[in-house]
Amino acid sequence: MNHDLPRYNVIIAGGGPAGSTAGYLLSKAGLRVLIIDKSTFPRKKLCGGLITYKTVKLLQRVFGETPESLKEKDIINHESCCYEIFSRKTLIAQRTVKFPFMFVDRKRYDHYFLEKAQNAGAGLIEGDGVISLDVLKSMVTTMSGRKFAADIIIGADGVNSRIRRSFPVDLFGRDDWTGNLAAALEIFPARETIKKRIDHPVLYFGFIDWGYAWIFPNRERLKIGICALKKRNKKKILAAFRNFLSAMDFPDAQEEKISSYVLPYGSFLPSPIFRNIMLLGDAAGLADPLFGEGIFYAQRSAELASQAILEVMKNKRDIGKSQDVSANIYLKLLQKQIYPELVHAEKFRRVTFTYLNKFHYYPMKIMMSILGNKLGETVHGIRSYNWMKKLPEV
Ligand SMILES: Cc1cc2nc3c(=O)[nH]c(=O)nc-3n(C[C@H](O)[C@H](O)[C@H](O)COP(=O)(O)OP(=O)(O)OC[C@H]3O[C@@H](n4cnc5c(N)ncnc54)[C@H](O)[C@@H]3O)c2cc1C
Repeated sequence: MNHDLPRYNVIIAGGGPAGSTAGYLLSKAGLRVLIIDKSTFPRKKLCGGLITYKTVKLLQRVFGETPESLKEKDIINHESCCYEIFSRKTLIAQRTVKFPFMFVDRKRYDHYFLEKAQNAGAGLIEGDGVISLDVLKSMVTTMSGRKFAADIIIGADGVNSRIRRSFPVDLFGRDDWTGNLAAALEIFPARETIKKRIDHPVLYFGFIDWGYAWIFPNRERLKIGICALKKRNKKKILAAFRNFLSAMDFPDAQEEKISSYVLPYGSFLPSPIFRNIMLLGDAAGLADPLFGEGIFYAQRSAELASQAILEVMKNKRDIGKSQDVSANIYLKLLQKQIYPELVHAEKFRRVTFTYLNKFHYYPMKIMMSILGNKLGETVHGIRSYNWMKKLPEV
């Protein structure tokens, strides 16, 4: 062990929602934490910015923030209880749910929670990403050549995680990983450039295989996007997006610059740990396989990883000697709290994209009239994708 290196209890690569949540909880509990992010905040993040009831509850539980307090700070900038689902241009369902869908600008959202982690005591290095991980020395090196060691290393560095790719063995089956990524494209036209007034989230099926298009409202802008499983669409996604925009009759939207990124879409890793290293959020592929919702899973996995680390501490075990124990506890918590829902969502997706697609999603109209508000409540985390049974409150 090199004793000259700056040493921490926990190093977190990535200061997005996963990294900041873990950084906040662990620093608040008194651990020496360092967050390293390759970007400088506030930074852009391609995202629809939709957060659901389960995320709102998490923000309250973890940070003590309510929708009202977040609206006051302009973190939540729009909300709607209504949503619509279309099969191409045919309306399939229009519903109103009890709890609103909320919309955030990721630049503000991510910066706000990262500052919370700093205020709780976490150290932060920005603009200098992790370039390599030495598993045996439990040490990371940054792009500028700085080296830091820690008892526990957290990879919260997003879908292209350097920490995940530095693991010495292929623990996950990389084909499964890349095969289940989606490509996502988005534009952000100002509201006044679009003739139609859109104040609620709208989902469109039928423009792309194994994916969907969306229009999400923010206060000043719309977020219009498409995402689809890469392996099922080869190079068709950009053409499908242009086709969607022209079908929507958004002439000005065609002029907007299209941004693209990848998102985990059913690629959650069965065991995102190795020795004293834990992967969170997108780095572990933790996003909903049907709608691609990942902010909740990023913050929830951070909550569970922090719970595991603090449980080891509470039992008076020396954190430096029992790092692997906390990674195993984290895995067990994921298996109990997150994976069952992702597995059921994946099954639901298979039905949606295999069978409903064959009939141009028209059976969805019948399904939605039988389900009533249950699909909306499932997305909110009030019900499970497992036959839409009610879930216990967390
Ligand atoms: C087009 C699109 C739309 C989406 N819409 C929604 C939505 O509406 N609602 C929703 O819930 N989810 C949505 N998602 C998914 C959501 O954005 C992610 O699941 C979420 O951001 C995951 O959070 P994270 O903290 O795991 O990773 P990220 O938010 O990606 O944060 C990772 C951080 O790690 C940093 N980093 C990267 N590499 C390194 C490195 N080598 N060293 C150090 N730092 C590094 C990055 O700079 C970044 O700050 C969308 C995704 C896309 C692509």
